Amino acid sequence: MVETQLRARGIVDARVLDAFLSVPRHAFVDAGLVGEAYADRPLPIGYGQTISQPYMVAVMTQYLAPGPEDRVLEIGTGSGYQAAILSRLARTVFTVERIASLAQRAKEAFEALGITNVLQRVGDGSLGWDAYARYDGILVTAGAPQVPPSLLAQLADGGRLVIPTGGRATQTLRVLVREGDRLHDREALGCIFVPLVGEEGWCGD
Ligand code: SAM
Repeated sequence: MVETQLRARGIVDARVLDAFLSVPRHAFVDAGLVGEAYADRPLPIGYGQTISQPYMVAVMTQYLAPGPEDRVLEIGTGSGYQAAILSRLARTVFTVERIASLAQRAKEAFEALGITNVLQRVGDGSLGWDAYARYDGILVTAGAPQVPPSLLAQLADGGRLVIPTGGRATQTLRVLVREGDRLHDREALGCIFVPLVGEEGWCGD
C-alpha cells in the first residue's frame, strides 16, 4: 500500500510514510472486511460512513504537515484510522465524532494499539472543540458546504486547516493557512466525502 498507492503517487514526506508503515489499517475495519483493509478505496464502517481511501488520508496528512510538538484537531473520527496516523506525527490529537458508536469503536482500536495521545469527544465537530483551541492544524474528514467559521476561529497563527468543501456529492480539498490577520486559501484536488452534518455543516442526514 505504501509503495504502490502512496509513494508512487507523490506522497514523499518520510514522516508521513513512516506513520503509515507503523499503523495497521486492518485494526480499523470491520472483521468481515479485514481482507480488503489495504485496498485502494474507501470501505464502509457502518452508519452510512466510510474509512477513507489510504491515498486520501495520506494527501490530507501531508497537507496538514503536523510537527512533533503540534496539537491537531480532527473532525470526523469515523474508524479512528486518520487519528491514529496523526497520533504518530503530532504531540496531541483531538478528534470529534457525531456518531457515538463509531467513537466507541475507535476508542477500542486506540486502546488495542496502545495509542494514548488521542483525546475524543462525541458531538458536532462543525463547531470545533473550543475547550482546547487554538490548534496548529485542523483536519476535516467530511465534506462541508463552506469553511465553518468556528474552525477558522480555533486555528492558531501559522496553523493549517485542511477541509473538503463544495456540494453534498463532490468537493474540493482546500488548504487554508492563517498568517496573522491574513488567510491563504488554495484548492488542492477534487474529492468525494460523506457530508459534514451539523450547525456549521449540512442539515440532517
Ligand atoms: N477520519 C475517518 C477515518 O479515518 O475513518 C473517516 C471519516 S468518514 C469519511 C467522516 C466521518 O465524519 C463520519 O464518521 C461521520 O459520522 C463524521 N461526521 C460527519 N459530520 C460530523 C460532525 N458535524 N461532527 C463530527 N463528526 C462528523
